[in-house]
Amino acid sequence: MTTVMNGISSDSQPASPSPDSKALTQWPGVISHYARYLPISEFTPIITLNEGNTPLIRADNFVEACGGEFELWLKYEGLNPTCSFKDRGMTLAVSKARERKAEIVICASTGNTSASAAAYAAKAKMKCIVLLPHGNIASGKLAQALMYGATTISINGNFDDALRIVRELGETGQVEVVNSVNPFRIEGQKTAAFEICDQLGRAPDFHFLPVGNAGNITAYWQGYKEYYSVRKADRLPRLFGFQAAGAAPIVEGHPIEKPETVASAIRIGNPASWQGANAALNESKGHIDKVSDSEILAAYKLIAKTEGIFVEPASAAPLAGLIRIAKAGMIPRGSVVTAIMTGHGLKDPDNAIKSAGFEPIIVAPIKEAVMKVIGL
Ligand SMILES: *Cc1c(COP(=O)(O)O)cnc(C)c1O
Repeated sequence: MTTVMNGISSDSQPASPSPDSKALTQWPGVISHYARYLPISEFTPIITLNEGNTPLIRADNFVEACGGEFELWLKYEGLNPTCSFKDRGMTLAVSKARERKAEIVICASTGNTSASAAAYAAKAKMKCIVLLPHGNIASGKLAQALMYGATTISINGNFDDALRIVRELGETGQVEVVNSVNPFRIEGQKTAAFEICDQLGRAPDFHFLPVGNAGNITAYWQGYKEYYSVRKADRLPRLFGFQAAGAAPIVEGHPIEKPETVASAIRIGNPASWQGANAALNESKGHIDKVSDSEILAAYKLIAKTEGIFVEPASAAPLAGLIRIAKAGMIPRGSVVTAIMTGHGLKDPDNAIKSAGFEPIIVAPIKEAVMKVIGL
């Protein structure tokens, strides 16, 4: 085996480092790392951007701010290659599409799925088509789809309309649908549950996450159950999901015709994985609830200010729920809690600038003017 120091191979072989030496020094992405738990074979081409291995950050300041006495760990999924957890599922969905010799992948998206699909399709040299609800996409996400070279189509309708069209197109057999109705998406996303157990050395007691199309809650539950069954996790967590009040079909028990919320990633009225969410909630003795946009925005600001972690509004929904539940004293002292920070705050800069509530202070280009502002 070759050892590499300062980029120079220490044996007499030509300069190109062997795949083995690279694997030793760099995280290989979720498919290679968790291969034995995934539906792949030697014939599956692995299309990866080295996604996964995201940090699990302890958040004591936030817990103190909401008056709790438990351990909170934030899984910062915004640090994936396209800045959301969608990459975990997309690496597998696109790899499997490639294995089947598909040439075109397609998805409906509130933004992050399209960013991820476009990036992995570029890596796989495949064509990518994305359908977005017109006028409702955070600017960072739109920028990503365009830059990665996806054919980007704006539907005069909402996400649910876009997904309906994508499913119909999928039935023609001419395109590969990479929404979370594609089972490989869920399979890839379950690796986040594995990572949490590997990082904590145990499974959490409570697991908080936002719920939109409900693929992720389905995937986490599958992942925790699988790890528990091979004794890599010592317990099963209770799953606590949160929807935005204006887009809370699972909480209300019926589809929402015109979902509305500032948290665009969970602005979904008829979740594709509704059944999966119900199973996860029932089996884990979990809980699903809704949080208002003002609660979401308060949590969104609080997590940035207290922990230095900037997430997009959808990721703040479980934190809003946690604040409420912690204040009601419903988290037993000493519990280990994880919350999934599903997407990066820079995805939606317009919302951030609006929510900050203040603007940069403009001053003359002299030291005294700056001192006056800071009170020196
Ligand atoms: C996709 C997404 C969600 C919702 O996940 P579902 O699997 O659709 O429930 C939440 N937050 C962010 C940032 C997302 O991109």
